[in-house]
Amino acid sequence: MSLLKKYVLEIPNFPKEGIMFRDISPVIKDHFSSLIQELDALIHPDVFKDVQYIAGIESRGFAIAAALAHKRNLGFIPIRKKGKLPGKVAQVKYDLEYGSDALEMHYGSGKIIVVDDVLATGGTLTAAAQLCEQTGFTIASILCVLNLHDLNNFSYKNVPFYSLLTY
Ligand code: AMP
Repeated sequence: MSLLKKYVLEIPNFPKEGIMFRDISPVIKDHFSSLIQELDALIHPDVFKDVQYIAGIESRGFAIAAALAHKRNLGFIPIRKKGKLPGKVAQVKYDLEYGSDALEMHYGSGKIIVVDDVLATGGTLTAAAQLCEQTGFTIASILCVLNLHDLNNFSYKNVPFYSLLTY
């Protein structure tokens, strides 16, 4: 397990009563280089073959995905909350640990790695993966910083899935 785990904050009852929020903000703030380095090293080198894009889910997924894309000299694609992207978009609705929402993305093609900060129920990353396929991309891998494993048994088809920290 990564030593970065000790910097994750535990915030009880946020944003709702009964939710233990795991906040990776200190990891991003003070250990960003190590975080990106460790995430990059986690992905098997074969997985990067022919990958053209790293997609990040709004909003903390953006920072992580963009840094990984830069490190690998790949393009960055934003997966956004509904109503934020202009032009023709695909949409997938999903349930959250607390509430529901919809993600949107522009159409395209090529191999893509999908990134988010925290995997809780898995609803967000599942919706994002469905969206990537609906919009024309092929998913090489799915990656998150922190997996709240007690809340999910996440997998998506046979796509390689990586998480740096597990609770
Ligand atoms: P989910 O769709 O349930 O996997 O939720 C994932 C998203 O919700 C992530 O992008 C997180 O930002 C946020 N989230 C949900 N639950 C938590 C939690 N307990 N701690 C931190 N972030 C959470």
